[in-house]
Amino acid sequence: MNEVIFSIFSAFIFGLIIGSFLNVLIYRLPREKTPLKPVFSFCPSCGEKIKWYDNIPILSYLILKGKCRNCGSKISLRYPFVEFLTGVASVLAYLKTGLTVDYIFIFFFLASMITITFIDLDFKIIPDEINFAGFFTGMIYTFFRTDFNWVDAFLGAVVGAGFLFSIAYLYLRFRGIEGLGMGDVKFMAFVGTYIGWFGSLFTIFAGSFLGALVGGAVAYLSRSKEKGKFEIPFGPFLALSATVYLFFGKQIKNWYFGF
Ligand SMILES: [Zn+2]
Repeated sequence: MNEVIFSIFSAFIFGLIIGSFLNVLIYRLPREKTPLKPVFSFCPSCGEKIKWYDNIPILSYLILKGKCRNCGSKISLRYPFVEFLTGVASVLAYLKTGLTVDYIFIFFFLASMITITFIDLDFKIIPDEINFAGFFTGMIYTFFRTDFNWVDAFLGAVVGAGFLFSIAYLYLRFRGIEGLGMGDVKFMAFVGTYIGWFGSLFTIFAGSFLGALVGGAVAYLSRSKEKGKFEIPFGPFLALSATVYLFFGKQIKNWYFGF
């Protein structure tokens, strides 16, 4: 096999395995105090321990035709989807960095975005553990990267978290609603360490725009069913915007300052 294809294939397989682990994190982190304690996975319906051969990313889902071997209850399509997405993320990280130290940090960043997105969709929270680990690794990463020092990283965190906190404060002060959670603010401190102050601002603006767009569409489409409250989590839009900036930051910055 061609060496490049083999590397990409390996990155994808590694991503699938990590994706399988992310499924566990997504399920347990918001529910349990010790998400990593039992290493095995359990069927959410019958509680039966899942055998290792039924726990192979994507393949097992296909072989079992999306059903638990023990109780026959449906397995959400989201599990193989998260695995696939993480596989793709690993390949993208590899294509961006090659097999370097950077790969570990970039892939960690992307895996965190995936985890945060699905936890926020389910529970409307972003766990402190991920934000803290993300901030910490972002600061550590500055020792390895040449484009960014710790001041840039720290400034990214302060600008991102500070700006979003100000918006949240104004929202609460003048409209009396808690429109934004502190999880989103801490999330900005995390991504700011990776993408800097300009990336932070881009993430907030692009995330707000996307969120308003999708939120408006959802509110419009479900208008007839229930009136009033539509709680759209902000995290997934922020995560997507931060990811776009991570890959295309240079182009976005050039485009913006080119005007
Ligand atoms: Zn089951």
